[in-house]
Amino acid sequence: MTRLYANCWVVTMDDAGTEHPDGWVLVEDGLVEAAGAGAEPEAAERVDLGGAVVTPGLVNTHHHLYQTLTRARAQQADLFTWLRELYPIWAGIDAEAEYAAARTGLAELALAGCTTVFDHHYVFPRGREGLIEAEVQAARELGVRIVASRGSMDLGVSDGGLPPDELVEDLDAVLAETERLVGALHEPGPSARVQIAVAPCSPFSVTGRLMEESAELARRLGLPLHTHLAETIEEEAYCQELYGCTPVDYLERLGWLADDVWCAHCVHLSERDIGRFGTTGTGVAHCPTSNLRLGAGVARVRDLVDAGVRVGLGVDGSASNERSDLFLEVKQALLVARGRGGGDAMTVREALRLGTRGGAAVLRRDDIGSLEPGMCADFAVWRTDGLELGGADDRVAGLVFSGPHRVDRLVVGGQDVVRGGALVHADGAEIARAQRAQARRFAE
Ligand SMILES: [Zn+2]
Repeated sequence: MTRLYANCWVVTMDDAGTEHPDGWVLVEDGLVEAAGAGAEPEAAERVDLGGAVVTPGLVNTHHHLYQTLTRARAQQADLFTWLRELYPIWAGIDAEAEYAAARTGLAELALAGCTTVFDHHYVFPRGREGLIEAEVQAARELGVRIVASRGSMDLGVSDGGLPPDELVEDLDAVLAETERLVGALHEPGPSARVQIAVAPCSPFSVTGRLMEESAELARRLGLPLHTHLAETIEEEAYCQELYGCTPVDYLERLGWLADDVWCAHCVHLSERDIGRFGTTGTGVAHCPTSNLRLGAGVARVRDLVDAGVRVGLGVDGSASNERSDLFLEVKQALLVARGRGGGDAMTVREALRLGTRGGAAVLRRDDIGSLEPGMCADFAVWRTDGLELGGADDRVAGLVFSGPHRVDRLVVGGQDVVRGGALVHADGAEIARAQRAQARRFAE
């Protein structure tokens, strides 16, 4: 069936940055058939969007959904202090809590325009099963796409790592469980709703051997690789002490500077590091709010983009960015780029591109991120008749500058996930109640 979304300002995010201020989007069988302006094509159904802005669905490239259970902890802390306070609390996670947390984070993200979510889960207390299945189920029920990761930690405090010993796993068990999840959940090819990535946690919680064997497994199965990197100056000192080199040198030594890898944060990169990311095709998940919240610093996004690095945005939460709103990260990315480089350091459209096309490129997805023929019909509809947008003739710029906002409608694969500002397949109030009941189990 064809459906025409008409009377809207379409931001296609194609290579040329084409926009149709009086445009329409034609959708058929879950895919974009065409986007344009002027004479409307025939369609079985016409939906009038009343002058709203339509953007591709936002793509979140770094998150920890389980952390909605432990918000507003370690309020005055740097990364390592924050982690040391939270690790023992996270040891209580189980599938029931994970499900409640994932529903909360995914619902927040959907209401803020996000259609595809990467989640980095790396806490697997012994004997707790079904954690990844729980978050995948939550995504399926809400109707959003998920790239879930089988993360890992195998370097405990007694071996010089940061996490407590009871939270680290055996290397062989990690790899076997990752492969099992891929067989059970991973969908290959275009329009996939569930995919798996391989994501050992960080240089200070994972052994070099697990990094190398994770890469070997991922490359054998054709999966993308992800880790945290160069988030703080303390991490750099840690790498110098333990490995005798910088985090990026360490990654290179492990065979992890490559076009099937993306790293979260990358705040502390030298000029040479940025060049190496560009030439090797290594991607970056830029998470400005989390970096500011933990006082980690500000990534050099302008330089990364100029060096041809694949850059996407991440909310990285929800214990270091209590808000799962990727549109807010679009605005933050714009503001911190300007804070570093001046008023013309980044345009509104460039920031929005990071949150859409950029994220798709980071996840190595060529079926999402823009509204062009053959792409997944994943898009967000933003009303522009509210109080905050009056006087903004450039409605796209107005949206970004005045963000964040809730979407009026969110469409994934041609199906409504949000309609009239409310979730279609779930009750937001019920999700919030269920999540609070689980969060109480983690209260101090
Ligand atoms: Zn993170």
